[in-house]
Amino acid sequence: MPGCEEWLFPAPGATRRSRVRYLTAHYFSARVFREWVDGIPELLDDRLDDNGDQIPYRRSEIVAYGLRHAYAQRHADAGTAIDVLCKLMDHRSLDVTMGYYTVSQERRRKAVETVAVLAADRHGNPRGSNDPLAYELRSVAVPNGGCTEPSNVKAGGGHCRMRFQCAGCDFYEPDPSYRPALEQTIADLRADREAATAMGAADWVLANFEHQLEAYAKVLAEMDERLAGLSPQERDAVEAASKELRKVRASQAFFPGDTLDIRRAP
Ligand code: SF4
Repeated sequence: MPGCEEWLFPAPGATRRSRVRYLTAHYFSARVFREWVDGIPELLDDRLDDNGDQIPYRRSEIVAYGLRHAYAQRHADAGTAIDVLCKLMDHRSLDVTMGYYTVSQERRRKAVETVAVLAADRHGNPRGSNDPLAYELRSVAVPNGGCTEPSNVKAGGGHCRMRFQCAGCDFYEPDPSYRPALEQTIADLRADREAATAMGAADWVLANFEHQLEAYAKVLAEMDERLAGLSPQERDAVEAASKELRKVRASQAFFPGDTLDIRRAP
């Protein structure tokens, strides 16, 4: 539209008049967003009132900033690396982004307790522990699960002689908090296998992709089977605990002192 080229979101005005201003955040939140919220026929919370009915949201409490906050929190819950989220949010300091990753020691301890009982080996055999402290001491977090290989545990997870091909390793102990990472690894392996095929890679290279894909898919299937055996309430608790632990792990790369060491828990 003539006169609007300068702005991605021009301010509303007469269509024939040249627009010289952009849409302000205030106009968006006070008018555009408010009209959109008010136009939604029904907005119900998950919480229930004394009669068991869902409670309507207070529309005045739904603000545009909430979308930004929810976006950031979902990334943090999913384990997005803190430096990546910092860039996505355009924060000037990691300290600001860190607010989305903050988990108290007590919540960490409870989260470990919840998922530790569901740990398994690469074949799906239970390796769960009722002792969260013992669970933490015997393993270190690597990209797709816990690693119990002593030299790697000692090195904080950065010393793997098998190049982190964990699904083929007997020291591998994934718990449900690693489920999104497993899904991502499987998707990445598929994409890399296709690329390697297109590049005419040697058969042994493609075979390695196939074996890893098969092994990780089996780990994921076994994990899903264990989760399917839980009640909906138990699954919700596991998911909530998993989010907490992913947040902690995502922040560790940049805040090494902020470890998942539950020995410091009160
Ligand atoms: S491949 Fe084995 S030793 Fe290496 S990180 Fe994975 S579980 Fe640990």
